[in-house]
Amino acid sequence: SPIPDFLDETLDRHRSDRSGANADYIPDLAAADPEKLGICLSTLDGVEYTSGDSDFEFSIQSMSKPFIYGMAIEQEGLAAVLDMVGVEPSGEAFNELSLDKMSGKPLNPMINAGAMVTHSLLGEPGTSLAERIEIVRAGLSEFAGRQLRVDDSVAEGEWGEAYRNVAIANMLRSYGVYTDQPDEVVQGYIAQCSILITTKDLGIMAATLAAGGINPITGKQVLSPRVNRQVLGVMMTCGMYDAAGDWMTEIGVPAKSGVSGGVFGVLPGQVGIATFSPRLDKHGTSVRGANIFRTLSRELSLHIMDAP
Ligand code: GLN
Repeated sequence: SPIPDFLDETLDRHRSDRSGANADYIPDLAAADPEKLGICLSTLDGVEYTSGDSDFEFSIQSMSKPFIYGMAIEQEGLAAVLDMVGVEPSGEAFNELSLDKMSGKPLNPMINAGAMVTHSLLGEPGTSLAERIEIVRAGLSEFAGRQLRVDDSVAEGEWGEAYRNVAIANMLRSYGVYTDQPDEVVQGYIAQCSILITTKDLGIMAATLAAGGINPITGKQVLSPRVNRQVLGVMMTCGMYDAAGDWMTEIGVPAKSGVSGGVFGVLPGQVGIATFSPRLDKHGTSVRGANIFRTLSRELSLHIMDAP
């Protein structure tokens, strides 16, 4: 049938591109098979079109951030979360030590500084590290429509090299953004990033956001429409960090990347798209993943700013 054939052809067209390099600062990502390549398109009624290594598991990394942002808003309310983390594009790398000069808070929840704050909000005050990790695991599982798990090896490897993220977490504490123990925030955040998903899971997670917060497999309303809209707005403007403008103007699909090599994109009311390929460009986005999105955007006319 036409869609699977088109996906096979699209992957074949990009398969031989070996540019970019695996993330090097997380041992398991450095050691990942760089040839893996997968794609999944998920419709809002849960039909999944896949090609390549779409059942291969990888860690979610920064692709967890929009979902955790949504969970934090559901728990705390939008005003309370906006009080702690802004929604302005930073134009900086994901791991920049940055706080908004005027407000003293992280610019947005897609960069690590903002993501650690939204992570820290989950659960009641006094929630233990293990409890918060379970809240995160259970919450991300709702988006995927199946029970996900943390890969402890990925998490331990990242923790061993987490100097930058520990610095960010300490900066947040010293500026009074939160009163949590910085090391625990980083450990919880790293566990969040180490949750394993497949490209198929990622397609369903994207389709959940495309469907206004309703998981197409379980039928469950995971995010309310207003929160879902908030998440997509922030993804659109901040999801690709310092490449957000290029991505939005050229490809035109709100998207989020992660250093494991996954990328997911959301076309509201239409489809969720997920790709996986480990070699990254200088922004930490999958090279083949971005090029596949470019191809799909062009050939399927997906740019959200095109008049229908
Ligand atoms: N765990 C990674 C980090 O904090 C996630 C970064 C990413 O995927 N861009 O460095």
